[in-house]
Amino acid sequence: MLPPILEHPAEPDAVHGRRAVHEAERPPEPRLRDRHGRAITDLRLSVTDRCNYKCVYCRTGNEGALYSELPIAEYARILRLFVSLGIEKIRLTGGEPLLRKGLLDLIAEAASMQPAFAPDERLDIALTTNGHLLAPMARDLKAAGLSRITVSMDAVDPETFARITRVPGSFERVRDGIRAAQDAGLGPVKVNAVLLRGFNEDQIEAFAEFSRAEGVIVRFIEWMPLEEGRTWTPEAVVRMDEIIARLNAVRPLVPLPATHLSETARRFTFDDGVGEIGIIAPVSHPFCGHCSRVRVTSDGKVRTCLFSQSDHDLIGPMRDGSGDEELRARIRRIVDRKEARHHIGEPGFLKPSRSMVHIGG
Ligand code: SAM
Repeated sequence: MLPPILEHPAEPDAVHGRRAVHEAERPPEPRLRDRHGRAITDLRLSVTDRCNYKCVYCRTGNEGALYSELPIAEYARILRLFVSLGIEKIRLTGGEPLLRKGLLDLIAEAASMQPAFAPDERLDIALTTNGHLLAPMARDLKAAGLSRITVSMDAVDPETFARITRVPGSFERVRDGIRAAQDAGLGPVKVNAVLLRGFNEDQIEAFAEFSRAEGVIVRFIEWMPLEEGRTWTPEAVVRMDEIIARLNAVRPLVPLPATHLSETARRFTFDDGVGEIGIIAPVSHPFCGHCSRVRVTSDGKVRTCLFSQSDHDLIGPMRDGSGDEELRARIRRIVDRKEARHHIGEPGFLKPSRSMVHIGG
């Protein structure tokens, strides 16, 4: 591992004596890293745990929001702290983030931040949404500074989709949202589909066509035990190998190189170069060794893994008057203890202390 001082982009000049680096230009300390040596560059911030969909694999349909929301200014301070520690990508999520009042202000605030360790680059600001409210908001999201968008859509057949979301007419809304996002310059849009045996695995081939026809990147995600109820079983997971085999029968798949080391998706196109498919396989092919993520929940708690058994309070100390230095030190201590990996499918696996909708996916 490089000594931290050499990670600052200004250092080579400084080392060779061509340019003095002023103390004020330096990021506060070495970049955020856990005890397993993983650099933490990716923050997922949930801005609400309310959601207007009740997807069958995520929610029971009985529970509503369970946790509080912070004022936008407090989320902005949290973002600033993490960015000063080396976060380069922010993903705003929920619950459903488009339900959150003040979201555009938060995006604009984030867009004004500079990655501490890559001062010549822009912060990457992404959003994950179910797309229901997206069509009329897409241009404003882009204008506020959003870099890119991921839309969750678990079927391309309207009836199947409504059966999953439990909201009638949802497919057309989401499809129009995807198109509006592309028109607004937020493309290429990523479309996330969680496959559940018996519900929507018959959609794999249709999704291949959807990617090719609509110019979107379709990403299949293996279902993880993060639902509100207790419905997950290993048998219900549609695994990567099966997805690849079925896509290959549509047209031969051609692997694409990973865009970066911590990429969660295995990427493919088809033999004619049209369409892009990603497969995210945390169950059958875990990628914890390259995990660069940390999460903050809507009520201001840090979670170091989707499968953490507890979370770490950040908003309490912030409201008690802790200064930025103290808070940064706290974040470093929390992140240092990030779990090495998840234990899905192993004997003694414990479900995490919160489900996906209340963590922020
Ligand atoms: N409401 C937004 C949306 O629908 O994209 C953001 C929150 S949602 C929890 C984020 C993503 O998590 C969605 O793509 C959803 O499909 C996925 N997800 C939810 N529960 C999951 C699970 N148990 N396993 C895998 N992915 C899950």
